[in-house]
Amino acid sequence: MSLTAEEIDRHRRHILLKEIGGPGVQKLRAASVSIIGAGALGGPCALYLAAAGVGRIEIWDDDTVERSNLQRQIQFGAADAGAGKAERLAERLCAIDPDLTILSVARRFAPGETPAGDILIDASDNFETRFALNRFAHAHRRLLVSGAASGWTGQVSVFASGVQGDAPCYQCWVPESPPAAEACDEVGVAGPVTGITGSAMALETLKLITGAGTPLIGRIQLIDGLSGTSRMVRLMRDTSCPVCHV
Ligand SMILES: [Zn+2]
Repeated sequence: MSLTAEEIDRHRRHILLKEIGGPGVQKLRAASVSIIGAGALGGPCALYLAAAGVGRIEIWDDDTVERSNLQRQIQFGAADAGAGKAERLAERLCAIDPDLTILSVARRFAPGETPAGDILIDASDNFETRFALNRFAHAHRRLLVSGAASGWTGQVSVFASGVQGDAPCYQCWVPESPPAAEACDEVGVAGPVTGITGSAMALETLKLITGAGTPLIGRIQLIDGLSGTSRMVRLMRDTSCPVCHV
């Protein structure tokens, strides 16, 4: 289905990129993603994906906006305090492009849940959700874009164990919850680092949908805000991984 004059106008800066172009914008319009977490990572990620015209976006979060979120969750304002995060973020996305299909799910992702997106985006803040989503992505052969941020550092990767034979899964990278696993509530985090990380997650998703460039499959991008550097770590499939070993 060809693009309308309005779509061509709206997405001109993506159409001008040879790696995306008109066909890429059409792929974005046909794409379906589920974003697990509407906070500091899910916010910027969702805003960029809606702006790029991703046709169906599902937002999962059971939390409500608190004043202490506003230091980094820039999709919300003071007036949003007490409101459901998934619902309020979905409203923001609809305002960007009313032609998109945006759904909010006011629940925490847990085993037994079935997010509909062809691409799953892990923007959660706890290992229980991360492990459950990784298992779901592997079992249901979905791509998993994963991001995390803490202190001054962020990390981004794409896990494709259910889709590509030799690709590692999240649990090959993090076999079990670290002993000192703490949520953002207990440790500090530099607001812009969450924005960089969430934006990088949107970028990886856009690349997966359009086929542009090389996605971070089997690689972890580590962002260090204090030194202003970023480095890449290679990740192999763990042959003893409880999720993806065969
Ligand atoms: Zn694995």
